[in-house]
Amino acid sequence: MAKTRYDNAIKFQQIMLSEYLVPGMTAADMTMGNGSDTKFILDFVGLAGKVYAFDIQAEALSNTKHRLGRPHPQNCMLILDSHANCDRYIKKDELELAVFNLGYLPGGDRSMITKPETTITALEKTLILLKCGAPVYIVSYKSHDGGKENNALCEYLKKLDQRYFNVILTSFINQKNEPPDLIIIEKRKDRL
Ligand code: SAH
Repeated sequence: MAKTRYDNAIKFQQIMLSEYLVPGMTAADMTMGNGSDTKFILDFVGLAGKVYAFDIQAEALSNTKHRLGRPHPQNCMLILDSHANCDRYIKKDELELAVFNLGYLPGGDRSMITKPETTITALEKTLILLKCGAPVYIVSYKSHDGGKENNALCEYLKKLDQRYFNVILTSFINQKNEPPDLIIIEKRKDRL
């Protein structure tokens, strides 16, 4: 079988990240989980860059620390707090890229799933913090919580003013078992 690029939302997200990230950038992983995206981003931005990673579970931080190796790089901030508080840590116009991988930690506590209200608050704040021209990539699950979070997110995204944001929804429409979508938002300019 040929080497392919678009098998699922996570692989597609990683391709987009690898095309966008360059050494020295500042990026945020809004759902650290087991740290695979945090590490993926850190490997691109390097020691001259900066990564903020958020999770509400101590287990996510320890799994990520383990993945990054000890001592983990000082330019990678592992933050035990909700992404809804991201503006307490990140300055406006500092952020050059953000990712969300929604849902629950694989193999972990399924009650610690991302929730519609907090996810949307975090996204609203992220869109303010982002530099103009910067993207957000969101892996969003339609099968979790009966699709409530995904529906709320789509309703919010549909209303984003096209003067300020480009919004793209990528669905794997011929795959079984409701695979996640990849949502891409690109900030065009600041809302006045
Ligand atoms: N569904 C993905 C993994 C998602 S991990 C997969 O299958 O690979 C999602 C992470 O978001 C979890 O570690 C969870 O603890 C975290 N999370 C949930 N609510 C959060 C919040 N408000 N702020 C930051 N992280 C949160």
